[in-house]
Amino acid sequence: MTTQIDALVIGAGFAGLYQLHSLRDRLGLSATVLEAGGDLGGTWYWNRYPGARCDSESHAYRYFFSRELNEEWEWSERYPGPPEILKYLGRVAEKFDLRRDIRFGCRVVSAHYDKAANRWVVETDAGDRYVVTYLVAAVGCLSSANVPDIPGLADFGGKWYHTGKWPHEGVDLAGKRVGLIGTGSTGIQAAPVIAQTAAHLKVFQRTPTYSVPARNAPLTPEFKRWVRENHAEIRAIAESTPNGHAFRIAKRNVADVTPEERQAIYEAAWETGGLQFRATFHDLMIDQAANDTAAAFLKGRILATVRDPKTARALADIDHPYAAKRPPIDTGYFETFNRDNVELVDLRVDPIESIAPLGIRTKSAEHALDVIVFATGYDAMTGPLLSIDIRGRGARSLREDWCAGPNTYLGLQVPGYPNFFTITGPGSPSVLTNMPVAIEQHVEWITECIDHMRRNGIDTIEPDPEAARKWGAHINELADATLLSKAKHSWYYGANVPGKPRVFMPYAGGMARYRSLCTDVAARGYDGFLLKRRDGHEVAAARGGGTGNFGVERGPGI
Ligand code: NAP
Repeated sequence: MTTQIDALVIGAGFAGLYQLHSLRDRLGLSATVLEAGGDLGGTWYWNRYPGARCDSESHAYRYFFSRELNEEWEWSERYPGPPEILKYLGRVAEKFDLRRDIRFGCRVVSAHYDKAANRWVVETDAGDRYVVTYLVAAVGCLSSANVPDIPGLADFGGKWYHTGKWPHEGVDLAGKRVGLIGTGSTGIQAAPVIAQTAAHLKVFQRTPTYSVPARNAPLTPEFKRWVRENHAEIRAIAESTPNGHAFRIAKRNVADVTPEERQAIYEAAWETGGLQFRATFHDLMIDQAANDTAAAFLKGRILATVRDPKTARALADIDHPYAAKRPPIDTGYFETFNRDNVELVDLRVDPIESIAPLGIRTKSAEHALDVIVFATGYDAMTGPLLSIDIRGRGARSLREDWCAGPNTYLGLQVPGYPNFFTITGPGSPSVLTNMPVAIEQHVEWITECIDHMRRNGIDTIEPDPEAARKWGAHINELADATLLSKAKHSWYYGANVPGKPRVFMPYAGGMARYRSLCTDVAARGYDGFLLKRRDGHEVAAARGGGTGNFGVERGPGI
């Protein structure tokens, strides 16, 4: 079956839903969303592991584009869990009548650009074809599960699961001996909940991590009222902060206060809980000495919480600056190690060698297990795009073009792939922000760009290769200006996937700065992009491939 439409969107998460609404209802285009999952939700459709919960606070974890939607929707907890987020997205789909243009259970396997027709030919795993003018990837940054290639997994006699593909019917862990591999944001959320039902839990830790209590709680009627009455202000803060959250980063530096004041500030932030801990000082992410004070405070908390000294030391022996890797927040993670049925396996001392039929074999022990839970993360940012056979001009493939790392301009487009847009793609702030805020900005930029093209008779847009080159250099320059560059083993660098190029992927200059750069680029006639009419006539010269003068502010980019 071949369907001809104006626009195709891949993915029905936060990004895909809003992109469909924008293209169809604002621009009047014919548009369809193809979604591999059985329903909408994107990452929240798949991530239903025990303890899964959003790390962003609910009052800013939402779309802001519709005042009416904001006024009718009320979150129940400080951090929303998957069922409530799915309910919210369901309400969005209902309100804007989106489901009629979404095909579920439909995995896109290839997207090839046909230069002669100036169309994208997209094929699904069911063999359906879509011929479209605009192609938008709303595939998410963390949707390609990373299951490590540990020898023997196929022979494991028990059950194993990746947290990102958790069975929707749930997994009964009662009475089971569970091994949890991975102590990133996911493992730290899952461990306390698994420990409550499993007979025994072994947490296999390769790299210890900082964590701050989330302090989730039901929202009070007063707070709900405050949210209802202050949407505009919440939006204004979220859109003007570097990380898209609705809290401001303090202007003071660590050295501006006495050690006693600093301790009091950290203690107050610890009590408040959540990602706001990063906002205590302006220089936490750019000054090693400043960061050391936060790191020392957080390590001290681990040592004070965990009763067994050996376990406490293994958990607190953290080798990177605080928040140089994505900082988790937790509900009783370190306390979990005080339970009789929980044990830490320090893989730096005793690495995993293989998986045996009865469990995990480390260098010096056999760990008998009924269930293995892989909280081992994702082939982040590039993985979801490269899982599709995407081919641009001259049949060049994205997999080949990105073999040394992603190459984009503004994280929005790829040179040689006309009319192909990525929402929160590599090279954009994406994972360093509160995602819906980044998503909304991208969707609106893409929508305005397509509108501009149609109003001005422009057939194709793609980045000038030189502008993309400068942008790539800028991404690295920004990471190097922060302490993010001190955790080269993070997934921000692709280091968690063997063979993946070690390149810093997200834009670390902050969402607010990025937003103004994108607005400015559009206002200058899409500077750095090549815009052409069908006859090949160039509409707006690339003006030397973009100014390349993006500016680096030594400020907290995340
Ligand atoms: P992650 O941060 O990549 O953590 C993966 C963990 O698995 C790390 O501890 C890693 O150790 C370990 N690991 C990977 N391969 C291993 C192996 N072969 N042997 C032993 N250990 C191995 O993944 P994640 O925890 O799923 O989080 C990914 C991102 O998703 C987060 O950073 C965050 O952006 C997002 N997330 C958000 C939320 C939320 O908002 N609620 C919740 C969860 C996740 P190393 O550190 O040594 O590589």
